[in-house]
Amino acid sequence: MRIGKILDVVEAPDIVGKAMLAMGTTPVPHMVTPDDATVHWLLPRGAAHRRPWPWARISRYVRVLTSLEELGIPGTDLTDGPGPHWAYPEVWGGGHLADEWLVEDLAVCTLMHLGQPAQRCELCPEPLWAEDGVRVVLPRSPLRTFPSDTVRVHTQCARTQGLT
Ligand SMILES: [Zn+2]
Repeated sequence: MRIGKILDVVEAPDIVGKAMLAMGTTPVPHMVTPDDATVHWLLPRGAAHRRPWPWARISRYVRVLTSLEELGIPGTDLTDGPGPHWAYPEVWGGGHLADEWLVEDLAVCTLMHLGQPAQRCELCPEPLWAEDGVRVVLPRSPLRTFPSDTVRVHTQCARTQGLT
């Protein structure tokens, strides 16, 4: 199956797959690849990009792949290892494609099992991770008074804007 032309593929560590099954609110199955301890969900092409920020804020834990040439997809009736196979949720909706709202459940599972999501940098669209960034003082606006005058931003963004 051609990835990039047809599908987005969401890749996560296998613990996230187990957590998603335990939570039980995602009605589509995922693929399990025991060899590299990863799981994959299939989405229609471009689905993840319809909601860029929710995906970006967990991009450290969950990757959206769009440039892989090929991904081996096991037969849908293959539900056990040792090779790649499908893991079906207890309540299965009947399909194999997730949608962009998959990210809501992924956000809960990555928070509980892997760590904090990124925050927004106030100066650029890239995710700002907890251990990165600096708190900088905004220059006073001559036009109005801001209730708070510091923001958290990437170190590099602060430098570029001349903020300290
Ligand atoms: Zn930034």
